[in-house]
Amino acid sequence: AALEAVMKMTLGHEFGAGAACLKCKDKCEGFELHFWRKICRNCKCGLAEHDVAMNSEENKKVGKLFEDTKYTGLIAKLKTDGLPSYRGNMITISLPVTYEWAPPVANKYLAVRYIELLPPEKRPVAGTEGAAYRRQQMARQLPEHDQDPSKCHELSPAEVKQMEQFVRKYKDEALGVGDVLLPEEMALVQAGGSGGYARVAVRDHSASTSSCHHCQQPMRLGEPAVYAERAGYDKLWHPACFVCCTCNELLVDMIYFWKKGKLYCGRHYGDSEKPRCGGCDELIFSNEYTQAEGQNWHLKHFCCFDCDCILAGETYVMENEKPVCKPCYMKNYAVKCSACQNAVEPEAQRVSYGEHHWHAEPECFKCSGCSKCLMGQRFMAVQGFLFCSVECKKKTMA
Ligand SMILES: [Zn+2]
Ligand SMILES: [Zn+2]
Ligand SMILES: [Zn+2]
Ligand SMILES: [Zn+2]
Ligand SMILES: [Zn+2]
Ligand SMILES: [Zn+2]
Ligand SMILES: [Zn+2]
Ligand SMILES: [Zn+2]
Repeated sequence: AALEAVMKMTLGHEFGAGAACLKCKDKCEGFELHFWRKICRNCKCGLAEHDVAMNSEENKKVGKLFEDTKYTGLIAKLKTDGLPSYRGNMITISLPVTYEWAPPVANKYLAVRYIELLPPEKRPVAGTEGAAYRRQQMARQLPEHDQDPSKCHELSPAEVKQMEQFVRKYKDEALGVGDVLLPEEMALVQAGGSGGYARVAVRDHSASTSSCHHCQQPMRLGEPAVYAERAGYDKLWHPACFVCCTCNELLVDMIYFWKKGKLYCGRHYGDSEKPRCGGCDELIFSNEYTQAEGQNWHLKHFCCFDCDCILAGETYVMENEKPVCKPCYMKNYAVKCSACQNAVEPEAQRVSYGEHHWHAEPECFKCSGCSKCLMGQRFMAVQGFLFCSVECKKKTMA
């Protein structure tokens, strides 16, 4: 069993290995998964930024998400008897356009109309930016490490248990997938019009139900709407309005989490329930963690972004919102003093003028002509040289 576990981990780390980074191009030697951060060791971008064919992985992930949950949507429930299964629906229409995903409705026209109602740059048309957008949102909104303890790094048995309870809870209480229907059809369903739909409760279909729950604007006659079983079939959304309340992005493949009257994507539902580690991007299930720089961190993950040394009790500097240790800061980020040419320590006082910097010390911040200390004095700066007076400038620059 131990050997099997090791094999699994290696395989996990090999997925996507070597794929080129679409953002960094030649600067990345190819995707190589960091030991515990969910990013590339070479360029520090995520897997989604690399050129990896993800379709089969995505479908596996989404299938796993909907394993043993009852709420897979009205249509799936009406159509399938056994366990809910999920497949990325590829549909090709005359144009020739291939959608990497389309809502699983029997009526092809409705599926196509749903996609046409999305912003053009977000339509999952194969080979376009819309398809790349969907893939990126798939990774961002539904992190595997929010679903599966085996995708997390070194959880203790207690943390695994906590996480399993968390996953159980959202499957029971929040997770669902939207349905695309014409409001007229939904009215029929609710009235029990066709036999197969009898399980859905009959509700009064009043006029108020036909404005979008997000933008409050009316639905257009004959246009499909999105319904969410968790929200109740008295609410409906324009396809482009079925978005996460936190990131405002389209809910990828209409997969939603419903909580207290709001739609969330998986990531932001998780964030609303648990702190998330700024280092490994996993939700934190241990009681002990640290807060720094407005983020939460596993104790062992408050580390230098460049060399991974642990920063607890050490001097660190925030660079691009990531903590780095002092040695890495000095090597990679520190500004150089224009006088002594040494890097300026993060805690040192410095004077900056344009793109030039100096130690705020008499040995460095001084006149290049007469060496007079210029701290608190009038000075002029010319190409990184400091002068106390026009005379010293003339004398030196001549
Ligand atoms: Zn990159
Ligand atoms: Zn890379
Ligand atoms: Zn709307
Ligand atoms: Zn979100
Ligand atoms: Zn962490
Ligand atoms: Zn470092
Ligand atoms: Zn200096
Ligand atoms: Zn001088």
